[in-house]
Amino acid sequence: MSSILILLGPPGAGKGTQAERLSREFSLPHVSTGDLFRENKAQQTELGKRAQEFMDAGRLVPDEVVIDMLFDRVSAPDCAAGFLLDGFPRTIPQAEALGARLPAEATVRALALDVPDAALITRLTGRVTCRKCGNIHHSEFSPPSAVGVCDACGGELYQRADDSPEVVTKRLAVYREQTEPLIEYYTRQGVLSQVNGNRSPDEVGQALVAAARGETV
Ligand code: AMP
Repeated sequence: MSSILILLGPPGAGKGTQAERLSREFSLPHVSTGDLFRENKAQQTELGKRAQEFMDAGRLVPDEVVIDMLFDRVSAPDCAAGFLLDGFPRTIPQAEALGARLPAEATVRALALDVPDAALITRLTGRVTCRKCGNIHHSEFSPPSAVGVCDACGGELYQRADDSPEVVTKRLAVYREQTEPLIEYYTRQGVLSQVNGNRSPDEVGQALVAAARGETV
């Protein structure tokens, strides 16, 4: 039976970090549409070139492009027993397309991270990402030992183009308008748990694991 975990939350809520933990805990592959786009962008594929203008502007890539890419990824054998979605769905049509594709016996659990806007802005605009391994540092909260160098692998740290203050503001507005309605969508289906994401990563992680198991948090 396939088990689908959906991690929802605004940009900067900690989805990427927590997805890694949940993926290990439940042995589910971590499928991040943002990462898939960044990989395509780095490899200069047609898909990457198409997505770039939307990403750099903080806008959503059109639904049909994302849906095709996602379905392609989750058709791989490693996703047969389930998967963990990070950054998908982001619109109601994406959620509907996913729902229509899943087998009837699939169990779906949606976990929504809740973080106030002020904290999101501080987190995102101070965030630096490793070009080589994707590790994330924060200039204030988790600075690397040497400026510009990843502690994990020695790779070069850079600020994502979409983590600049102007684009962050746009991404948050897009989230509120297009993605937040999914909270109600999954609440109506009786599969949503809200988790306070404004705590230490360990506390958030424990609450998410409990919520994914269907325990009250
Ligand atoms: P993320 O790393 O999840 O913040 O995604 C980075 C960017 O990729 C987003 O700002 C969008 O431009 C694009 N993107 C990722 N996932 C989706 C999605 N499900 N729907 C539309 N655009 C997406």
